[in-house]
Amino acid sequence: MTATCTPSASLSRQVTAGCDENAYKCYQCKKCTSGCPVARYADMHPAMIMRAVQLGQYDMIFDDRFIWLCTGCETCTTRCPNNIDIAGVMDWLKEAAIASGQASPQPQVTRFHQSFLDTVRLAGGRLSEPLLLGLYQWRCGGTLGKLKSGALVADLKMAWELARRRRLIPRLPHRLKGVEEIKAMFKKSRLPETREKP
Ligand code: SF4
Ligand code: SF4
Repeated sequence: MTATCTPSASLSRQVTAGCDENAYKCYQCKKCTSGCPVARYADMHPAMIMRAVQLGQYDMIFDDRFIWLCTGCETCTTRCPNNIDIAGVMDWLKEAAIASGQASPQPQVTRFHQSFLDTVRLAGGRLSEPLLLGLYQWRCGGTLGKLKSGALVADLKMAWELARRRRLIPRLPHRLKGVEEIKAMFKKSRLPETREKP
């Protein structure tokens, strides 16, 4: 189901409908936050996000970069005494932010997510690391600036070193048999490009 977010409706009800989680089960023990590896890098943290969902604080969630820093490691979900799939709620919030045209406060992460999905789509259902790196560089722009500053040469040297150690295979992976099913899946779940905060 594609997530959409309607500010006029109850956020917790939308979360329940979208990912089958009841935010009101959260009683703010903060066990999720104390185990989260990225909680210290944003103004919000998992328990705060759950409280904001209860209170319908859309702007507070979407203006902060926390949901974009979430790595999906599921430590929070494992630690929650009320069995709330907090990582699932984070995923739903990310999808809802994109579907509702929210500008991302953490553009590098959204560029990486989109480059990753495009790579899997273009490479017939598998990940191609060289293609992923190329698309991510292209989305980030500034290739000319990198060329002038010498940073591009440093990147290429690193790519060569990774290829030499067989950590980066410079060819497209074999295509999967179910390419048509994968194409249909991408078509069905196509979301708009994420906007970035100016
Ligand atoms: S899934 Fe996200 S919110 Fe949960 S612990 Fe991992 S990084 Fe933190
Ligand atoms: S661990 Fe569960 S109950 Fe405790 S604050 Fe986090 S979401 Fe709420």
